[in-house]
Amino acid sequence: MIVRPKTTLEVSNILKYCHHRNIGVVPQGGNTGLVGGSVSKESNEIILSLEGLSTIYGLDLPTGILRAQSGCILEDLHTYAAGYDYLVPLDLGSKGTCQIGGNLSTNAGGSYYYRYGSLHATTVGLEVVLPDGTILNLGYDPSHLKDNTGYHLKHLFIGAEGTLGIITGVALLCPRRPSYRGATLLACHSYEQVYETLALAKSQLGEILAAFEFMDKAVLTIVTDRMKTTSPLDGTLPFSTIPNYAILVETHGSSEEHDQIKLQQFVETAFEQGLVRDGTIAQNLRQVQDFWKIRESCNPSVASRGYVYKYDVSLPIQQFEHFIQDIQTQLEEEDAISTNWGHVIDGNLHLNVIIPGQKERDDNLYYKLEDIVIRGVMNIGGSISAEHGLGQYKNIHLAKIKDVATLKMMQQVKNLFDPHGIMNPGKVLPP
Ligand code: ZN
Repeated sequence: MIVRPKTTLEVSNILKYCHHRNIGVVPQGGNTGLVGGSVSKESNEIILSLEGLSTIYGLDLPTGILRAQSGCILEDLHTYAAGYDYLVPLDLGSKGTCQIGGNLSTNAGGSYYYRYGSLHATTVGLEVVLPDGTILNLGYDPSHLKDNTGYHLKHLFIGAEGTLGIITGVALLCPRRPSYRGATLLACHSYEQVYETLALAKSQLGEILAAFEFMDKAVLTIVTDRMKTTSPLDGTLPFSTIPNYAILVETHGSSEEHDQIKLQQFVETAFEQGLVRDGTIAQNLRQVQDFWKIRESCNPSVASRGYVYKYDVSLPIQQFEHFIQDIQTQLEEEDAISTNWGHVIDGNLHLNVIIPGQKERDDNLYYKLEDIVIRGVMNIGGSISAEHGLGQYKNIHLAKIKDVATLKMMQQVKNLFDPHGIMNPGKVLPP
């Protein structure tokens, strides 16, 4: 059964009912998650869709605090904030479908994490409904930005994937929109060059650096093939040949002339130092958006090829290439294509292994891959989930990555908020 409340009070009444009858509740936003966090596991559960909570209350000036219900589509918030010349500090490929409540519940990172910080940093307040129906106002009606009075409970709900309660409203701090967005798409021969170009971008672009993404040849090849039929770019990357690595660098600033000079100088230096072999600077906003279309079509392009085993890991930035090659070596005997892209500036790699032509998961391969990837990540001190969360696919590894004391504290927090265990059963904590 799916229920579609339209108000916080309705959410409260539903949870109260389920709490007393021990009925599991699976909160569902835009259904764009990649770890099964909003997918029901058992038959004695209901799905609680937040899509009816879609009111935007307003943007407070001059603070830039945007208040909205949690079922608002992320892109609608972007459009709304843009009307005030403000920017929602979170952007990701699924923005046209995902909801802010889901973004908060999964602590989504996105492409501008480096520039605007995590949702923990930009969330001023939350309205939350606890499993017993209690409505908590955690700084949801702020007339101020700073509040240091007591435990910051809101942070427990950000990234909790709906296991402690349901977020129904958010007060989000939005920065001013940059008056100028520049971008360049560059081609590197080696990963070492990607890494060094990142260091150069940090030093030469400084305060205007907004995003730094990378894509490897395997995914670029698939994206190019798909663009031939679907894209306004006429199926061509702005390179003479598909490079081993492409990097997309974006700047956000307040002075077009100043930003253009800096971007130009950065690109020139990268060429002079032999870090890049080919590249284009966007001539207008449309071209900036076209560069992002390439990056954002990575996910749908690989999905169109077959069954995809998806990984979202944090690694030391220097180790990306070694990690990717290690996985490829171990996959040599499989009919698999390893494709890689991600927010290299945050040390966040999206590793996607495609089995061409397959529609269903192969359990043997799945467990083999999980073992290879998770052991590889742990060996170099990374994280098995950088921004997608644990859901019901990655939570089984929690005992391997957290110490006993931390796990015990997490379970105690869960018991405190959700003593009947009705909230999103089987997610985050291991079953
Ligand atoms: Zn991402």
